[in-house]
Amino acid sequence: MITFKDLEVDSRILQAITELGFERPMPVQAEVLPILFSSETDMVALAQTGTGKTAAFGIPIIQKLDLTNKDTEALVLSPTRELCIQIANDLSVYSKYIPQVTVVPVYGGASIEMQQKALLKGAKIIVATPGRMLDLLKRGNINLSNLQRLVLDEADEMLNMGFKDDLDAILERASSDRQTLLFSATMSKEIAAIAKNYMNDPVEITIGEKNSSSQNIRHFYCLTQPRSRYLALKRIVDFYPDIYSIIFCRTKMDTQEVAAELMRDGYNADALHGDLSQAQRDYVMSRFRLRNIQILVATDVAARGLDVNNLTHVINYNLPDDVEQYTHRSGRTGRADKQGISIAILGARDKHKIFQIEKKINTKFTQMHIPTGEEVCKKQLFKVIENIENVDLNETEIQEYFPVISKRLEFMSKDELIKRVVSVEFNRFLDYYRDAKDLNVDEKAEGHSDKRDRGDRGERRDRGERGDRERSPRRSGGKFTRIAFGLGYKDKIVPQRLIGMINDFTRNRDIAIGKIDIQDEISYIEISDQHVKDVLDAFQKANYRGKRFGVEVANKNRRSGSSSGSSDRNRGSRAGDDRDRRKEKPRDKDKGKPKRRF
Ligand code: AMP
Repeated sequence: MITFKDLEVDSRILQAITELGFERPMPVQAEVLPILFSSETDMVALAQTGTGKTAAFGIPIIQKLDLTNKDTEALVLSPTRELCIQIANDLSVYSKYIPQVTVVPVYGGASIEMQQKALLKGAKIIVATPGRMLDLLKRGNINLSNLQRLVLDEADEMLNMGFKDDLDAILERASSDRQTLLFSATMSKEIAAIAKNYMNDPVEITIGEKNSSSQNIRHFYCLTQPRSRYLALKRIVDFYPDIYSIIFCRTKMDTQEVAAELMRDGYNADALHGDLSQAQRDYVMSRFRLRNIQILVATDVAARGLDVNNLTHVINYNLPDDVEQYTHRSGRTGRADKQGISIAILGARDKHKIFQIEKKINTKFTQMHIPTGEEVCKKQLFKVIENIENVDLNETEIQEYFPVISKRLEFMSKDELIKRVVSVEFNRFLDYYRDAKDLNVDEKAEGHSDKRDRGDRGERRDRGERGDRERSPRRSGGKFTRIAFGLGYKDKIVPQRLIGMINDFTRNRDIAIGKIDIQDEISYIEISDQHVKDVLDAFQKANYRGKRFGVEVANKNRRSGSSSGSSDRNRGSRAGDDRDRRKEKPRDKDKGKPKRRF
């Protein structure tokens, strides 16, 4: 088996990548490295994200730099700020044992002055988003007259994002005596046109089949009534207790709604969409990377550049309008030699779209059946048992209490004890999923006669497995106290942000959350009584985006769903986020809830 050493990678780079755990070249690297080391040819490489392409172009770029001068010799253009930072970091790490190599990322949405200063110190390699690059070129801050290598990374995404004119302008300003490398997940007419206009007889490398999906991803779809989409999503998530996933929605509104519902239902979820400020985006993404968030609900645009490995699933809450977008979505999983699963939740009438995607990605989908309540329960039961098997026993801490506990439980047989321990966590799923209906639709009956399938718009969504008043198995019930937060719409607070802050600050996911009422400068949120102190303590010195704010009890105990005391008139249209919360009544028997563990 070929090694990086066989490919004649410089020993200092070899040391750095070995420390990163790169044991052997990935296919794109095994193909691209020998060509780039031995020639100056232009190249079009069709490779999905996550295939190792950064090292495929990054290692030769670093190795071929002329370190006797300070000229900028390499430029990497990438579609998003996040990807730009990621690539710059990767290149800095690969070159960490070659101190003369300087890598400077420049991207929009950040101070241009800081970037100008960094450029003044010298940049052998610049990694840039097209808009900011052009801006800096026009200001005369970057000189590309000695540019040796130019990389267009995720070129299809750059074109999708409307950077065509900026790319044209940059390519025209760069030295014509350069090597141009184009990386793209998909081949389109527009990509072919760039290759034709700006590249010199490029070699074409295809990793896997052209436009095809990674071999590591298995594609599934399931059919349900559009109004049961959310329930189907929860079944799937509950069926995979260790899921680490992006759920793609087509619209910002869906993204916000689905994330808010999931958070209210006790899942580690948050939303990523275009209405968030850069600081909010960074915050959500870093929590997702750290796995503080297990499920990220995102629009296609917002998820661009989010570089996360090890996703177990990509879920298409609805299919993208543009078939090509499906490749990008599913390519988020099955990266770096890992296996991944992409699932599309469809109404029966959307099924024809699967055929279009199959043709495009050259891969067959398998129809999966939405797990029944019983199947979910079985899966969760074994998860509880696995948790019991794997839990770290803190012998010394427990020893103090053990004699008392042991005495109290001594009347129970081993079998009874096991049953009871397991039931503590398991009953919730049993309760919730008892009599749960089958969410799968019979596509034949559905396609011809079921007029209730009204597509995505105007659907009435099923809120609970057994009607609107049911709660999720992950939520606890009981009495609630209304807490006032000194933040409101003026601070860009939305329900899921508030819930996210409570999760983050308290680090306690057992806290049940009731009704949320956001006003201009203040927000009210109902918190399970037993957790009020935790919340007040956690927020004592809190600040939000630099602003200190107060948190206090707003009024006496109440049941979730009772009148909040705040006028609906004050809510404005955005309070629609919590309109269904009012319908739900907590059930006292739903005490405690299954905890999610990674
Ligand atoms: P990329 O497609 O460049 O974003 O790479 C995807 C992931 O694969 C990144 O986390 C890389 O660090 C990792 N990676 C790249 N090359 C290798 C390799 N040869 N062995 C193991 N991991 C790699």
